[in-house]
Amino acid sequence: MASSRMLQPASIDIDAAARYYQLTLYLKSAEEIQIGRLGRFLFQAGFYIYTGSAKKGISSRVARHLRKEKKLRWHIDYLLERAEVVDVAVFGDDKSECELASLALSRPTAEVPAKGFGASDCRCESHLVYLGNELDC
Ligand SMILES: [Zn+2]
Repeated sequence: MASSRMLQPASIDIDAAARYYQLTLYLKSAEEIQIGRLGRFLFQAGFYIYTGSAKKGISSRVARHLRKEKKLRWHIDYLLERAEVVDVAVFGDDKSECELASLALSRPTAEVPAKGFGASDCRCESHLVYLGNELDC
């Protein structure tokens, strides 16, 4: 399924059949961020990929991620207080959320910045991957 670049909530028009999404985030400078009850982690400056799912209403979920004012609920909400979304890609169900997360983790520069991030309900090390300061693809 095609990915899309739509960063303004108002212009979101995501394929309703999409089940999973990956946000590419950019953090301007290194900082320690408290991620709810998961703990406090040092996040390096640079790019991150977060994999998530919304089996119903993927456009409203992505729109929520792009919105600044909201109650902090998921791990990603805490990071999005500090980082900005620079890209959104959506996927059908030919790969699972965890497979997408592990593909991101298999990139050459990938590191896990916070164990268990976004992965409370599965066995993944993390659904958030740090890719370094340059994005090569
Ligand atoms: Zn997982």
